[in-house]
Amino acid sequence: MVEQPLNEALEYVNHVKRTGIVMSMLAALVASLLSIIIAGMMTKRITNIAAITDHLATGNMNASLKVTSNDEIGQLALAFNKMVVQLKASRTELRDSEEKYRSLVENSNVGVYRKTGNDNSFIEYANPALAKMFGFPSVEELLQASAIQFSDQESFKLLIEEIDQQGAVKEREIRLKKKDGTSVWCSVTSIKHFDEKRQVFLIDSVVKDITERKIAEEALRQVHADLEIKVNERTQELRVLNEKLYRLSLEDGLTGIANRRCFDEFLQREWQRARREQLPLALIMLDVDLFKHYNDTYGHVSGDECLKRVAGVIKEVAKRATDLAARYGGEEFAIVLPNTDQANAVKLGNEILVGVRELGIRNATAVSSQIVTISLGIAVIIPSDITTPESLIIAADQALYQAKNAGRNQLQVASTNT
Ligand code: GH3
Ligand code: MG
Ligand code: MG
Repeated sequence: MVEQPLNEALEYVNHVKRTGIVMSMLAALVASLLSIIIAGMMTKRITNIAAITDHLATGNMNASLKVTSNDEIGQLALAFNKMVVQLKASRTELRDSEEKYRSLVENSNVGVYRKTGNDNSFIEYANPALAKMFGFPSVEELLQASAIQFSDQESFKLLIEEIDQQGAVKEREIRLKKKDGTSVWCSVTSIKHFDEKRQVFLIDSVVKDITERKIAEEALRQVHADLEIKVNERTQELRVLNEKLYRLSLEDGLTGIANRRCFDEFLQREWQRARREQLPLALIMLDVDLFKHYNDTYGHVSGDECLKRVAGVIKEVAKRATDLAARYGGEEFAIVLPNTDQANAVKLGNEILVGVRELGIRNATAVSSQIVTISLGIAVIIPSDITTPESLIIAADQALYQAKNAGRNQLQVASTNT
């Protein structure tokens, strides 16, 4: 047996030991390097995703990720790219739609504006039609001029208050002021809503210029009003004319006192009343004496004049509002005296008799007096169911006939039931 010295043996053992340590250290180093490289690769891909996300956030939609592997990160990149494509499509769709509505609003001939609800003076958006409607050369000038300039009217403030409280108004007609101070009639439809992003209330409004319609309506109203005034005037004229016609229809054209028709109606009425109230109703019938001679001597025109003067005396004597003096026909007159007894009727009759005499109208042919005289017949009655107005006329007429027979220029009373 060959004996190995101890030193040599230990030297070998140490050598193996050192080699083992070095090998282990090398292995650890390689492992660390490998893990650093792998971690670096992984981090780079994740950083890429983060960078692309940042691009997207700033609105750059052209970014996409390279898919280099089929692992989880590769799958994530694929899903990410898909999402970007969809986002891009939605964004384009949104832009198109926004473009469409913007174009509609911008080119509309109806005014559109948006203002912050709690600030009466600030309009933040308006379309060209609104600017034109209010006489501003451009939208910019309209926006620069505060809304107060064309909305300082009380009615507009009330409208804003109403929108604020009720949330909306529909087709409210209101008169506003244009840039040059003239008026514009508008139909306003507004809605109030909350802008969550800016935490403010907004009022969006659509405004239609209805000035022409309002002017037409006003003109129509004016025409109606004028027409109404004219109709009223004509109606009034007609009423006056009617009253005149009615009066004329009851009036005697020559003497101006009541005519026969009026006498007939009046007598019927008063007869009924006297019958109901059992009061005396008196009638005086009178006739101008020898009037034919008068006409023949002085002419028909003088005859007319004479009749007018006789009528004047009758009117003067029978002046109670309830009495009626009428021309009965030709040169004959009748006086109806409601609620008048025989004594009073005779008194009035005599006054007329004397009054006509006192006129002193010359009538040369009148046999004795040489002046125009009259004869009167008086009848007074308390009407009953068996008597009639005609019976009163007949009685008065008979009395008149008696007066004529008794020599004219006098008064006779009929014997009736009073
Ligand atoms: P007596 O005393 O009997 O009544 O005689 P008299 O001549 O008056 O009677 P008569 O009836 O014969 O004549 C009435 C005249 O009255 C006849 C007519 O020419 C006249 N006369 C009737 N109406 C009018 C009238 O409206 N104007 C004028 N001028 N004359 C009239
Ligand atoms: Mg006569
Ligand atoms: Mg006569």
